[in-house]
Amino acid sequence: MYNAMDIEKIREQFPLLKQQVNGKSLIYFDNAATTQKPQCVIDSLNHYYTTMNSNIHRGVHFLSQQATNAFEESRKTVQNFINARHMHEIIFTRGTTESINLVASSFSKRFLKPGDTILISAMEHHSNIVPWQLACEERQAKLKVIPINPDGTIIFSELQNLLDESCKLLAITHVSNTLGTINDIKKIIKTAHAANIPVLVDGAQAISHIKIDVQDLDCEFYCFSGHKMYAPMGVGVLYGKEHILNELPPYQGGGEMIKNVTFEKTTYNELPFKFEAGTPNVGDVIGLQQAVKFISEIGYDNISAYEHDLLEYATRQLEQFEDIKIYGTAENKASVISFILGNIHPYDAGIILDKLGIAVRTGHHCTQPLMDFFRIPGTVRASFAIYNTKEEIEAMIEALKKIKLMFA
Ligand code: PMP
Repeated sequence: MYNAMDIEKIREQFPLLKQQVNGKSLIYFDNAATTQKPQCVIDSLNHYYTTMNSNIHRGVHFLSQQATNAFEESRKTVQNFINARHMHEIIFTRGTTESINLVASSFSKRFLKPGDTILISAMEHHSNIVPWQLACEERQAKLKVIPINPDGTIIFSELQNLLDESCKLLAITHVSNTLGTINDIKKIIKTAHAANIPVLVDGAQAISHIKIDVQDLDCEFYCFSGHKMYAPMGVGVLYGKEHILNELPPYQGGGEMIKNVTFEKTTYNELPFKFEAGTPNVGDVIGLQQAVKFISEIGYDNISAYEHDLLEYATRQLEQFEDIKIYGTAENKASVISFILGNIHPYDAGIILDKLGIAVRTGHHCTQPLMDFFRIPGTVRASFAIYNTKEEIEAMIEALKKIKLMFA
């Protein structure tokens, strides 16, 4: 188990955490929105733009070859990181949103017919709702939703019922960004496969907390964003099984994704390039490799154990307020706590916490249907990363006590 000294060493790698905000030491609890970046990632961007910047794959010159090698090395690193069978099953995108849009668009063109259904859950982020609504509208298909229990867990019997003949794909989150619920994704995938239904997993909130092995999970697609795992913004990953990616039509047309172009007919490049039209985000993809190394050096066992400890501690501390309501009380949770304190509007709490140097997220967290389910306008969400500490949680609790007095 990591101790305070280990965490201090980790914190030293994050220059942004040394900042003062409103005259107070910054406490950053908005990690589910985006994580801060360690020095190795920042250095990597600097190094790329000072020594290597050039366009990749097509250049014969030195810089282009160097950048191409570094870019493809990053793909290899990501392949190993999530244990994909093939390197060409790793498609670089802008993030989870683009990864899901890619699948929603290409999969529905190939496989979705009028009357078919796409199945999602009631705890999805808008990124895993709206692309499917667009696809369903276009193909006259229906979007169906697996309901949840009040504790924020999937109602499993409903999931089984909805995996019927009309269902062509299940798209579901691994971890809820609002409730913290960790879905039993392996069991869910197995259940869908028993009905011959492919599965897309939204891994945006899982990737920084849980070791992902896509072969073990056996999902057809796994999506995540770099910026939620200590990597730069603007880079993400779509993992897809080779055979299914080969069956899908391209998402965007342009350079890089073609084999041969004439005005009469264009043939497409092989995987992964078929899905990477245009100049990619080379510098950030290379930065992502450094973030993978950062996580791997700490190890998921250490990350999970430490963050779980923070979650338990914060939950116990928050429960001391007799009028606290925590949303998301599943047994298996990632380090995300959503709450409302008394009748204090989440926005008011968030603004005052900010005045005290504490960054939390307030609002619907891009899960409006989930807010409707709980009949609330929003929550305060504190989400923890490997660099957070119990002292920071104590500071938040003290701040909440002050806020309560102000609203008494
Ligand atoms: N899904 C979940 C569960 C998320 O938490 C997020 C980001 N909040 C997304 C998808 C979208 O990720 P991005 O904005 O990086 O594309």
